[in-house]
Amino acid sequence: MKSLNISPEDLYSRAGLARAITWVESKREDHQQQARNLLADVMIRTGKARRIGITGVPGVGKSTFIDNFGSHLTSLGHKVAVLAVDPTSRRSGGSILGDKTRMDKLSVDPSAFIRPSPAGETLGGVARKTRETLLLCEAAGYDIILVETVGVGQSETVVADMVDVFLVLMLPNAGDELQGIKKGVLEVADIIAVNKSDIDEKAALRAARHYKNALHIMTPADPSWLPPVATISGETGSGLKALWKTIENHKIVTERSGSHDKKRSEQQLRWMNSLINDGLMHAFKQHPVVNAEMSSIIQKVADGEMPASLASDTLLKTFLQ
Ligand code: GDP
Repeated sequence: MKSLNISPEDLYSRAGLARAITWVESKREDHQQQARNLLADVMIRTGKARRIGITGVPGVGKSTFIDNFGSHLTSLGHKVAVLAVDPTSRRSGGSILGDKTRMDKLSVDPSAFIRPSPAGETLGGVARKTRETLLLCEAAGYDIILVETVGVGQSETVVADMVDVFLVLMLPNAGDELQGIKKGVLEVADIIAVNKSDIDEKAALRAARHYKNALHIMTPADPSWLPPVATISGETGSGLKALWKTIENHKIVTERSGSHDKKRSEQQLRWMNSLINDGLMHAFKQHPVVNAEMSSIIQKVADGEMPASLASDTLLKTFLQ
């Protein structure tokens, strides 16, 4: 990769933005550092976008929804970036989400920018890169950021922690779904949308009632906002305008209650802490003396010859000397 300089102004072109993202995604430390320097330079231009998380099981219709919903938003004059957090892409070596070929309209829309999930990464790595990419997109003038994820592992929690509002798409067969549904998903949902309502409207409404009831018995994460349940069709577009109004209303309500700002600052602090943790761990593992002692100590702990507490004390002392 060429290490050309990227100025904050270059980000306004798609090519410049794409190039900056390759720095973020690069394994090379000098590239990552360049990305961070650039981020620091453009920080003032970030933070103004609406950050929307979207999840749902494979096949629920995320790509179809994002294609039509995103096109609706660009028709209103917005600039939309679509990012993805896909921890499974490290296994396949390629991304299954945020794939341009699955979003026919948006992929050729000049007001949209689609970036697949970085491949070959741990969830923590994907999360860091997606956050930095999100900020670059904001600095590039995108005012709506859609972050898509499939509900694998902790990916929903990770995405919920980088967005303002989290949308969960559900299938209309609520009976089956409620059985298998992860409670954690409802806990992080700000809005639930029962998708594919065009197939069977009655079933979709029935499912919506189920979810409303399920949400009623839970304590809302944000006391100022009881998550509403919508019925939509990502394919026909039915309910999408109303859904956007709901998302705008969420912004108004949470800004008024103060929970929007509170959430953003808590997210920033958690992110800072996780970067410190990662940085310390990295430095710890790179430390030459720690490195030299590590394998024999690991072996002793595994064999029960050394207590874990003594082992960690020994290694930490070595590291801190
Ligand atoms: P994803 O895996 O969640 O991204 O789901 P896709 O968007 O790829 O959709 C999975 C399948 O469901 C595709 O065959 C779509 O054409 C279909 N589909 C998606 N949304 C709708 C919808 O609103 N109504 C109907 N009838 N089919 C849909």
